[in-house]
Amino acid sequence: MTNHLFSLIRDGVPDPAKTAIETPEGRRYTYADLIARSGAYAAALRAAGVQPGDRVAVQVEKSPEVILLYLGVVRAGAVFLPLNTAYTPAEIGYFLGDAEPALFVCDPGRRDALTEAAAGVRTIWTLDGAGGGSAADAADRQGSGGGAFADVVRGPEDLAAILYTSGTTGRSKGAMLTHDNLASNARTLVAYWRFTADDVLIHALPVFHTHGLFVAINTVLASGGSMLFLPRLDPKLILSLMPRASVLMGVPTFYTRLLKEPGLTPEAAKGMRLFVSGSAPLLAETHREWQARTGHAILERYGMTETNMSTSNPYAGDRVAGTVGFPLPGVSLRVVPPEGGPALGPDTVGMIEVKGPNVFQGYWRMPEKTAAEFRADGFFITGDLGKVDARGYVHIVGRGKDLIISGGFNVYPKEVETEIDALPGVIESAVIGLGHPDFGEAVTAVVVGGAGCPDEAGVQAALEGRLARFKCPKRVLFVDELPRNTMGKVQKNLLREAHAALYR
Ligand code: ATP
Ligand code: MG
Repeated sequence: MTNHLFSLIRDGVPDPAKTAIETPEGRRYTYADLIARSGAYAAALRAAGVQPGDRVAVQVEKSPEVILLYLGVVRAGAVFLPLNTAYTPAEIGYFLGDAEPALFVCDPGRRDALTEAAAGVRTIWTLDGAGGGSAADAADRQGSGGGAFADVVRGPEDLAAILYTSGTTGRSKGAMLTHDNLASNARTLVAYWRFTADDVLIHALPVFHTHGLFVAINTVLASGGSMLFLPRLDPKLILSLMPRASVLMGVPTFYTRLLKEPGLTPEAAKGMRLFVSGSAPLLAETHREWQARTGHAILERYGMTETNMSTSNPYAGDRVAGTVGFPLPGVSLRVVPPEGGPALGPDTVGMIEVKGPNVFQGYWRMPEKTAAEFRADGFFITGDLGKVDARGYVHIVGRGKDLIISGGFNVYPKEVETEIDALPGVIESAVIGLGHPDFGEAVTAVVVGGAGCPDEAGVQAALEGRLARFKCPKRVLFVDELPRNTMGKVQKNLLREAHAALYR
C-alpha cells in the first residue's frame, strides 16, 4: 500500500541529483531536495495535528516552496486546498467557513488583515513569495531527515485536493479531486504530450488553479522533468529562457503577449518542442500568427477544474486551430441535447458531457448541485456547448450560461464574435445577451477596436447579410479592453451587469 499520487512522482525520480525546480535567480531544488523538503512539510503538518483527510487551505504568493508544501500535504494524507491570491479577506472568510480547514497558510503581509476571516481555523502559518515564514520554519524544525517521512497510505479513491473553480459564471465551487483523478490525468498527459525526463517546462502560470498546479506540475514531476519557475507571466523573461527549455504551457494571453515581442522568431523558439494553450479559447488568428512567427503549431486542449484535462489536439497529427482536439485516452465525451437525451451526430451543437477517471467526485458540501450536474449513467454535464466534427475534433462553442435567446431563437455568441473579429480594425469582441422588453434578450456586442475599426453602424452594416437578422447585434459598444480574470477568461457576467439597463 502506498500514497497513490505521491508514488507516481517518487517512483519516477530519474536521478535524485537531477533538477526538479529552478528559479530565474538561480535557486535550485533537486529531486532529492523535493523529497526531503516535502517530507519535512508532511512531518510538520502532522506535528501541528493535521490528520489524514483534513483540509489544508493555502493563499500564498507563488514560489517553489508552495509546491513542496503541496506535496507535503499529499504525503501527510491531507487535502490540499489552494485559494486565488486575488481573493479579499471577506472572500477568504467565506472559503474558510465552507472548507473548515485544520490549517491555513497565508502571506505574512496579509496575516493581520485575515485574522477575522480565519478566526475559526485552529492553526495559521505564513509563507511569503521568497519561501520564508512560519510554515518554512516549521519544516526547518523537522531537520534534513524529512525524506524519511513514511507517506500516509492513500488509495486511488481518497481525496487529494479541493480546488475552487474560477468563478467565471458565479460563485466558485469546490471540486473534490481524488488521488486517482490527478494521477491518472498526469499519466495520460505524460504519454499524450510525450513528456520525458529531458523536458524543461517554463512555468509562469499561477499555482492555485488546475492549469498551473496539476496540468503543469504533476505532468512534469511524473515524467522526471524540470521546471523553470517564474513568479508570473513575463514575456521577455520567457523569451530569454526558451533556449534552455522545451515546453511552455499558457493561457491564450501568454501567446498574444509573446507575439508582441519582436524577439519572437523561429530562431528563439528553435529548441522548444511544445507550446500548450488552454483555460480559455485561443483565437484561430493567434494560432496562425504563432505558426507564422515560430514555425510551431500551438497545441490547444480543453479541461475544467472538475474534470482535469478531457481533450487535446494530437501531438503528431493535425493541430486544428479553433478546436480542442480529441477526447484523451480513457475519457468518454458526448454531445447531447441540453435537456438530455441520446448523443447528437457530428457537427450538431449541444451540451458536452464527459466521463472517465479524470472526473471529480462532486462539489464540496453541495450535494444537490452535484446531483444536478451528473446524468444517471455517470456522465458529468460540463456546462459547455460544443460539437464534434466529422473528423472527431471537438469544438467548444461557449458556455451554456452565455447562450442568448433572442425572440425565441438561440444565438451562440461565438458565431457572432467570429464574424466581428474578422472585420478589419477589430481586435476582439464579446457578444452577450441583455434583457430587452420585446426580444427577451437582445444580442449585444462589446468590441475592442484598433486603428481603422468601423463604428457601431459600420459593424452592424458589415454583419448584415453575413448573419441572420436575429443574430445581428442590436447595439455595438466599444471598450478599451475586455474584463478578464487571472486565468485570462473573459468575464461576461461583469459585462452583463455593467450594461444591464441598456434596453430598459
Ligand atoms: P466557474 O465554473 O466558477 O464559473 P470556470 O468554469 O471558468 O469558472 P475553470 O474550471 O477554471 O472555471 O474553467 C473551466 C472552463 O474553462 C471550461 O468549462 C471552459 O468553459 C473553459 N475552457 C477551458 N479550456 C478551454 C479551451 N481550450 N477553449 C475554450 N474554453 C475553455
Ligand atoms: Mg466552470
